[in-house]
This record gives sequence, C-alpha cells and structure tokens, in this order.
Amino acid sequence: MIWGTHASRQKTLRDQASVSGLGVHSGAPASLTLHPAEPDTGIVFVRTATDGRGDRELKAHFRSVTATEFATVLGDEHGPAVSTTEHVLAALQGLGVDNAVVEVDGAEIPIMDGSAAPFVAAIDQAGIVTQAAARRYIQVLKPVRVGKNGCYGELRPHMGGLRIETEIEFEHPLVGRQSYAVDVVPSVFRRELARARTFGFMRDVAKLWSAGYALGASFDNTVVVAEDRVLNPEGMRFPDEFVRHKAVDAIGDLALAGAPILGAYRSVRGGHKLNHAVVTALMADASAWCYVEMPQPSRRVRGHAGLGALAAPVYGPDVS
Ligand SMILES: [Zn+2]
Repeated sequence: MIWGTHASRQKTLRDQASVSGLGVHSGAPASLTLHPAEPDTGIVFVRTATDGRGDRELKAHFRSVTATEFATVLGDEHGPAVSTTEHVLAALQGLGVDNAVVEVDGAEIPIMDGSAAPFVAAIDQAGIVTQAAARRYIQVLKPVRVGKNGCYGELRPHMGGLRIETEIEFEHPLVGRQSYAVDVVPSVFRRELARARTFGFMRDVAKLWSAGYALGASFDNTVVVAEDRVLNPEGMRFPDEFVRHKAVDAIGDLALAGAPILGAYRSVRGGHKLNHAVVTALMADASAWCYVEMPQPSRRVRGHAGLGALAAPVYGPDVS
C-alpha cells in the first residue's frame, strides 16, 4: 500500500508561461504570466503596472472578492484589482495545480477565446510538478444551500472528489433548459470542459455595453446567440456548450474556497454571485466542512462506510 501518493501531494508549475489578449469586459489589453510557487502558497494574483502605486498581491480567496456581476473580481481595501479571474482559476483547479502566481499587467485577465483552454495550454507549456507537501482538501460534511426565486446553489457531501452539476434555463429556443454533470478530474476537465466558451445573447448587448460590460466581446471570445441562431461562423464546440461553460465558471469560483473541495456542487440558474455566496456560506459554517488529507490508510476507516471512507479529518477526532 502506498500512502502519500502522487494525487495527495501539492503541485505547482515547472516553469513560467505567458499569454496575452483583451479583457472581455474592459476591452483592454493585458499580458498574464503563470509562475511556480512554494508549497502552501495557493493561487496568488499579482497585479503589476498600477500607475506607480506598486504591485498589488491578492490571494485567490473568497474573502478577496469585490464584485460578481458577469465576472468574478478580486480586490482589497484599495478597491478592485483583477477582474474575470474565473477561467484561469478553473484551468489551474481543473488540472490540479495548487500553488501558482498569476501575474497580470492590467485590471482584467485576458479572455482569450472565452474558454479555459488557452490557460490549459499555458499550464501545459509550463509543465506541472509535484511538491513534497501534502495536499489539503476541504471536505463538505453537510449540505449548504443558498438561493431564491428559483435559482440556487448547493454544496453537499460527495466522496469521490469534486462533482459539478449545472443547470441553466433561458427563455430562448436555442438554449431552453439544459443540465450537465461531471466528476472533475484533469483528463475530464481537458476533454469535456476546458474548451467551452463564454456565451451571451444579442438581446442583452446594448444593456451590457451601457453598463460598461462586454466592451471587448467579439466572435473571437464569446458564443453570441441571436434570435434564432448562433452568430459565430464556426458554430458551437459542444451541443451543450453553454451549460458546460457554467461548470467551468463554477470550478473557477469554487477554487476561491482556498483548497480543492471534496463535495458535489449543484448550480441551478446560477452564476458567479451564487457560486460566491455558496462558498461563503460553506466556510462560515464550521460544522459544514473540515480539512482533510487523502488518501488515508484504510485501517483508519475500516468499518466506516460514511464520511471518512476516503479521507479522515486532519483536525477532527483521531479515529486510528
Ligand atoms: Zn465564464
């Protein structure tokens, strides 16, 4: 039997890698560089080029969230610093990278093609290495639910890792009601999720623009849905690309818990605001979660079919 296997160790990048592009909301250009980081660093954003005010360092953490309208924005007491963090966070989380510095020289992460795939490519270019330190997970111990008006998000116990279930419903003949469920492991993230793009409706464009959003949106980075068809010449990448993209957003937003989650997350007609609310509600309830390391020796859990079958609490009662 092997304890402390590959999967239970923290991972970081072997080298650095960069991408550059436009912000989907601001339309502003930015370059992003992913850097390796020490064990227990987590994901840290470093915003450079701040007009002489010095670099700003922001932990990828739900307490750093300053806005969730159409994107997840991180900031501090000086205000918002980095917008549209969700897709690069999803790529790092989806590929199992625990520790990295995400350096960006603008106020918004470049949207690239609207999916997580360009960040996956950057991570692959940098390479992933396993570190000596054990990985710590957040294990969900009981359901935590937030919602109203037919929209809700819920985290519940799930022993197999992170499971994401998303459901969308838009009054539109091309979209309607769609649901998608996936157990998130790197190979599945790469194949089934990473390429799913941001989407938007033509009917919302004027309103978004007047509110200062989607100024950089184009067919290069957004699936644009008109009355009766998708306007992008290349069409869709998946028949259910929209609901898959919702899963990507959820993975990125759940990464803000600060450690990989062992649990199932269900989002019904949700978005960044709901994702953030559920993470905040989970972490606020000390009886709803605990830190664990996995896998644990089976002798510790023999005869226990419930919680703890895969992992035992690090800070809970010692059952060995
Ligand atoms: Zn998104």
